Amino acid sequence: MKIYYYYYYEIDQYGILHFTTRKVDQRPSPARGNTMVTSPSLITIHYTADDNPQSTINTFTHSSAKISAHFLVDRAGNITQFVEPNTIAWHAGVSEWKSKCAANNWAIGIEITNTGWLPTSTERLKNTPHPYAPEFQDFEKYTFSQLESLKELIEVLKVKFPSIIETVGHEDIAIYSGRKQDPGPAFPWHQGNFSPRPPLRSKPEKGELCVVASSDAELFRSRSTHTTEKLVNVPQSSKIEIVTCSTTDSDTCSDPNPIWWKVLYVDNAGKIWEGWMRRNNIAWNIFN
Ligand SMILES: [Zn+2]
Repeated sequence: MKIYYYYYYEIDQYGILHFTTRKVDQRPSPARGNTMVTSPSLITIHYTADDNPQSTINTFTHSSAKISAHFLVDRAGNITQFVEPNTIAWHAGVSEWKSKCAANNWAIGIEITNTGWLPTSTERLKNTPHPYAPEFQDFEKYTFSQLESLKELIEVLKVKFPSIIETVGHEDIAIYSGRKQDPGPAFPWHQGNFSPRPPLRSKPEKGELCVVASSDAELFRSRSTHTTEKLVNVPQSSKIEIVTCSTTDSDTCSDPNPIWWKVLYVDNAGKIWEGWMRRNNIAWNIFN
């Protein structure tokens, strides 16, 4: 138990969160796995992409739910708990962080009620391109109350699980890069006690080794557009080398956010192919 003047908060022996000064609802989700094999070492921040916290709660607690998170923090700072923090919840999807895959097995997921780039009447951060998906650049701001609540929640989780060493965004661990945009550029990593996030890279370097991160990655084309010849089938998890991250010699130069990158691929017979792949099929930040 942590004494804070006149209030306390803790996670009890059953994994249940208690706050004396915040509203915490317990709404167990059926979307859950086993107890984590190792204690959680990562906290992953999400936004709900939904205006209404109740619809998130309904989704996570539906009898046939296939997605969940451990906690939800609404705009007023109220918290709903769905899964005990050392039990696997289903929030991260296909994911990777520092060469470890399947983050659901070792990461706590916290959802924040926020619509992201979906248009709403709430206050917005405008003209700020998402680092991994620059086509999105207008994001809902987070409220003071929910950020304060989130800080306290992270603090109590770190007290309970000293194994937690980092807090990152879903956008940072989702494969492929750019597939997820939460919590997005409106999330104030630089404020308060949030762990500093590692530096973001919006694209890999020329010559960098990357990985094909999508099962629809057969789009290895002679030019940077769907309509050109498909050169070779490139399976998921194949290594590729970046030639260029721009579409300067492409058919889609008018695209302000180039999505085709030129890469090298070596097939099983040792033949080197040079062609174009969609950015969304490529994962970087993996080998360094
Ligand atoms: Zn997410």
